[in-house]
Amino acid sequence: KRRNPGQKEFHQAVQEFAESVMPVVVANPDYQHAQILERLTEPDRIITFRVTWQDDEGNVRVNRAWRVQFSNAIGPYKGGLRFHSDVTLSVLKFLGFEQIFKNSLTGLPMGGAKGGANFNPKGKSADEVMRFCQAMMCELHRHIGEDVDVPAGDIGVGAREISYLFGQYKRVANRYAGVLTGKGLAYGGSPVRTEATGYGCVYFCQNMLQHVDDSVEGKTTVVSGAGNVALYAIEKLVAMGANVVTASDSSGFVYDAEGMDEDKLAYLKDLKEVRRGRMSEYAERYKHAKYYEGKRPWGVECDIAMPCATQNEIGRDDAKALIDNGVRVVCEGANMPSELAAAHAFVKAKVLFGPAKAANAGGVAVSGLEQAQNAQRVTWSVEEVDHRLHGIMKDIHRRCVEEGGNHEYVNYALGANIAGFRKVAEALLAYGAI
Ligand code: NDP
Repeated sequence: KRRNPGQKEFHQAVQEFAESVMPVVVANPDYQHAQILERLTEPDRIITFRVTWQDDEGNVRVNRAWRVQFSNAIGPYKGGLRFHSDVTLSVLKFLGFEQIFKNSLTGLPMGGAKGGANFNPKGKSADEVMRFCQAMMCELHRHIGEDVDVPAGDIGVGAREISYLFGQYKRVANRYAGVLTGKGLAYGGSPVRTEATGYGCVYFCQNMLQHVDDSVEGKTTVVSGAGNVALYAIEKLVAMGANVVTASDSSGFVYDAEGMDEDKLAYLKDLKEVRRGRMSEYAERYKHAKYYEGKRPWGVECDIAMPCATQNEIGRDDAKALIDNGVRVVCEGANMPSELAAAHAFVKAKVLFGPAKAANAGGVAVSGLEQAQNAQRVTWSVEEVDHRLHGIMKDIHRRCVEEGGNHEYVNYALGANIAGFRKVAEALLAYGAI
């Protein structure tokens, strides 16, 4: 904390991780001698830069952007870019730190990184977003490369933004290479990448339930968010027979007691992905649904809670409300959506708790598969990629159980942290003191 004053999200992520892996470090004198934990909590480098662009009125605007290249111990740096007014270095450091172990869990050769800018895409025209992306890539292109660092999307950065960024990379670097993932299918994207985080999260949830001889079918499920992760989590939940009763955005949530179906999901996708509208419109379209302004959905009774919006969206009181209402599974689609006290409460109450590192690793896993396809200059089928995604999520689940299991309850958070850590620690040890 003395070295990184005020970086509360980063402290939180490191504390949660260190609580799990400390016994492994204590039991291994080589890790202590090699200062593995100290090395892993200091990013390899942080690039900070100014982005200057012009809005539609001709005003010159200035934002700050970062790329945190945290660790390339087991592969080129890999992690998303976030555009949001609340982006700070602390947020990007927490995300980059988590990414190291998530990427390790996928079994693919990817290091950990994160980046983004304090640019607020809300209310900006498509032209303004394009100019911002182009201006950002003017600097970022120097620091990325298919064997160096491969950014992807995150909050505020979807297919549209990746396309603008990739187009500008091609122009300034005069190279056509897989330097970004989440690209469109026409120019090197992978099938299922758009759906991968949401789908993968539901596969992980299903794996947790199957481990206790149950399934998601028929389960009342509360989802937060209505972005890339949430929409495809809802899609897969509906397809698997779950009863999804909520979705949200930063203004509020809708409660649809009848549950969502394919038609309602199609409406929601058009509302959020195409029209970029507000969640309140759902309740105007479906009169039986209720909209709660400024509220989160954690007071709604459910079997499964799937937070898919943002960090720290489940506080201690929210966790208590969920537990009191009988929640059985909490599966994290977003990164660090549960505050530390909430995560502890779920484990204490023996709720099946799928931590982000494991549960939302499907997105970066398919990004890794996109890199593999780009390197071979091939495109696999939807079935091939979805099959691999299934396999990867199953394997992550198995390793969490191995490291975090006992006879009556699997502590997935413990298992994910230790399983993700081991591979990176072994690599660092092998490299000597660098
Ligand atoms: P999107 O930008 O597509 O969607 C984010 C959603 O969350 C929107 O509905 C947004 O509402 C809401 N939201 C954002 N900030 C807040 C906030 N401060 N309070 C309440 N609601 C908020 O992002 P993604 O779906 O891509 O990402 C969601 C989460 O999943 C993030 O934690 C991200 O790091 C994580 N993640 C994403 C991956 C991916 O592949 N995209 C991979 C792994 C993790 P509004 O529209 O009002 O802004």
